[in-house]
Amino acid sequence: MHETPSTSLLRRRGFLRTAGAAAALHTASSAMQRAAAQPRFLAQIADRTYAHFGQIALTTPANAGDIANLGVIIGGDAVAVVDTGGSVRVGRELAAAIRALTAKPVRYVINTHEHPDHVFGNAAFAPDAIFVGHHRLPAELAKRADFYLHSYRDALGAEAIAQIRIIPPTLLVQDEITLDLGGRRLRLTALKPAAHTDCDLTVLDETTGVLFAGDLVFLQHVPVLDGSLKGWLSALPHLAQAPARLVLPGHGENIAPWPQALGDERRYLTKLADDTRRLIAAGTPLAKAVLQIAQSERTKWRLFDDYNPRNATAAFSELEWE
Ligand SMILES: [Zn+2]
Repeated sequence: MHETPSTSLLRRRGFLRTAGAAAALHTASSAMQRAAAQPRFLAQIADRTYAHFGQIALTTPANAGDIANLGVIIGGDAVAVVDTGGSVRVGRELAAAIRALTAKPVRYVINTHEHPDHVFGNAAFAPDAIFVGHHRLPAELAKRADFYLHSYRDALGAEAIAQIRIIPPTLLVQDEITLDLGGRRLRLTALKPAAHTDCDLTVLDETTGVLFAGDLVFLQHVPVLDGSLKGWLSALPHLAQAPARLVLPGHGENIAPWPQALGDERRYLTKLADDTRRLIAAGTPLAKAVLQIAQSERTKWRLFDDYNPRNATAAFSELEWE
């Protein structure tokens, strides 16, 4: 079995060797109190269904890329994981949290898209799990892997980067497939148009009505555009039809009712498109337009200044020649 955070902390600090010394015991008990005060890695969100809520933050060595939401579904025979976090450390924490819940094997690791904060933990589940993704995910990973490993070196640290293995899916979703975990069916749908990225995939748990939306749904964290603004907006009405009760967003602090959870994101993306089209029509150059696009949304989202300029630039490039 794995060490608990408090025993591994004690081991690292050498306290287990010096147990008995009064000072060490005192420090040990306060370390355990701190560990106990930390929230559990997995929160139950429905029957045999769990979520890990990543921080709403940029990746740093301190948070180890633990910035995306992750899902766990336990069936009669096996477990499925939805995304693995932004480093092998996060993936291992997820694996350990699952082992504390069930002895059933993790049969499927489903990656909702290619972004590092969702796939860098994959190595923690290799080689036993079957990796599942959008049919375009292998090509996207191949195209971007070198860039990601290079560009995340500063954000994660060289040691964390050295552990990462880019593991593409071998079970590919062309349109829609169903996975059976033993009396528990998951419906995986590959989005056709590019939206958040070029290879977005959703997972619907038919038993509980929980939709694992990946980064097709953002709450609190400003949406990030890396696919197509027109594609994303056009996908929203279809996405809203998913027969779900609740959604786990790719980023955000909570699950939310479906499809109402799409409201904030739809408003932001619509504003992004409307402002961009208006400024292009007025002949505003890109550098000036970026400072104005979607500014009315600024107080409504976290990390707005980190991502909105990029979103505005991407929107401008996409809509400039329509
Ligand atoms: Zn993403």
